[in-house]
Amino acid sequence: MGLSSRQAYRESLRDGRVTFWDGESISDITEHPNFRVPLDVAERDYDYDDAKRRDILTYRTETGEDANRVYQVPTSEAELLQRLELGAEMSIVGGVTGVFMALMSVRDEVAEVNPRYAENIQSMYHFARDRDLRASEVITDAKGDRSRRAHEQDDPDLYLHIADRSDDGIVVRGAKFHITAASLVHEQVVMPTKSMRNGEEDYAVAFSIPTNAPGLKIINRSFAPPELNAFDYPASAHHSIPEGMVIFDDVLVPWDRVFLAGETPLSGVFARSLGLWERTLGLLEAAERAELMVGLAQLVVEHQGKERKPEAMDAISELICYAHIIRTHLEAACRRYESTPSGMVHPNVLDVNVGKYYYAANYHTAVRNLQDIAGGLVLTLPKEADLRHPEAGPYIRKYLHAKEGTDVEVRMRILNLIRDLTADAFGGWHLVTSLQAGGGLIAQRIMMNRTYDIRAAAKKAMAAAGVRDA
Ligand SMILES: Cc1cc2nc3c(=O)[nH]c(=O)nc-3n(C[C@H](O)[C@H](O)[C@H](O)COP(=O)(O)OP(=O)(O)OC[C@H]3O[C@@H](n4cnc5c(N)ncnc54)[C@H](O)[C@@H]3O)c2cc1C
Repeated sequence: MGLSSRQAYRESLRDGRVTFWDGESISDITEHPNFRVPLDVAERDYDYDDAKRRDILTYRTETGEDANRVYQVPTSEAELLQRLELGAEMSIVGGVTGVFMALMSVRDEVAEVNPRYAENIQSMYHFARDRDLRASEVITDAKGDRSRRAHEQDDPDLYLHIADRSDDGIVVRGAKFHITAASLVHEQVVMPTKSMRNGEEDYAVAFSIPTNAPGLKIINRSFAPPELNAFDYPASAHHSIPEGMVIFDDVLVPWDRVFLAGETPLSGVFARSLGLWERTLGLLEAAERAELMVGLAQLVVEHQGKERKPEAMDAISELICYAHIIRTHLEAACRRYESTPSGMVHPNVLDVNVGKYYYAANYHTAVRNLQDIAGGLVLTLPKEADLRHPEAGPYIRKYLHAKEGTDVEVRMRILNLIRDLTADAFGGWHLVTSLQAGGGLIAQRIMMNRTYDIRAAAKKAMAAAGVRDA
């Protein structure tokens, strides 16, 4: 036990898990072309050989073993910042394994209601950490008719629920949607999608279950086809992770893996905790991408010789503002961390929600600024195959000549990356994901209203209006 390896990870996925993709039932994902790139992405997180990278990816546990840093329960600002460094280095598969932080953040609150659940959280955390497992964040229900509550739906399975209880455990039925990397992880960590009330006890359920558990099935989808040319698709040729619709067709969850089974007041606690850690990860990813967009904007205008033009400088300054506000929020969230009773720290809830909201609400405008100055070649640039063609290639080189000293291939690579990230399938994925992943805008609005010191603001307004004793 301890740190795992690429090879062991790959072998561990040959465990009989049931997955579907493109109308095919896939019995061994390690042999299937659709999973080639996703597996390569996930496996890179097990590359611990390089000393510098190992420093970022790992930490020393209380028992003196090395473990992946995604499992480090932060107790200081410095450890939160190390987590950001980790997030920038590791894949989204490692990122969503941070679901254990959401569990550990609520452990004290859960213990007050049912100590057994809190012990289960603690032991599942150790189980996963000491085996260097990967886990997914399984929270979003199908939800059916949004105007009705979980127990009022036409079909009771439209929210995941407890269908049966016995001495062995609970039997769960339902489906969870959009689950990032579901087919690539070892554990599905499941929580309620929102607060549940009286009458919805069977829907207040949280647990962790292995991906190959009988009755668990995953239907995959990704923005990227299996093979893409890396010159034409510099981002998505190397990066794609499927999301999965995860079906629970009467899955037995043993009691020692259950974190919640009927205590409705705790459902919102789980959901909010996951929201916080998921949005922190989203904010980090957003900061990295926004900074990349600034760089792309600068290069594309330099190549065209318009870097001193006011309209180009305006667009770039807007992108800088966007990137910097996101980064600043992320750092502020760590600096102004909050603590649980047992001393774990987590990012500031208000800072994270304001930052995530700002990122999501303005992402489409940031893309507009980049596309506006980049020009139509973002879409119409010929492909690499034509560049290498003996007759077509020279024309491309001749007519893509721009500012002196600009290499045509470099210019093409920058334009291709802009298209890949903002205008093609991956670009479309980002447009929707910026809004929905981690919860739609409404989810952050609710948290802003909940956590901002609104009474202090009202008092300030009363005092400014001359109301005495405000
Ligand atoms: C790429 C991607 C990856 C994701 N990864 C994960 C993951 O790993 N794990 C996970 O659990 N989830 C994941 N999600 C799901 C994400 O959290 C949800 O998409 C998001 O919370 C919105 O829920 P929904 O898709 O069910 O849409 P809906 O609930 O239909 O929401 C869509 C819009 O409708 C509004 N709305 C919803 N209900 C009501 C109502 N009653 N009244 C008025 N307005 C309403 C919302 O405000 C929202 O703006 C992912 C999503 C994407 C796109």
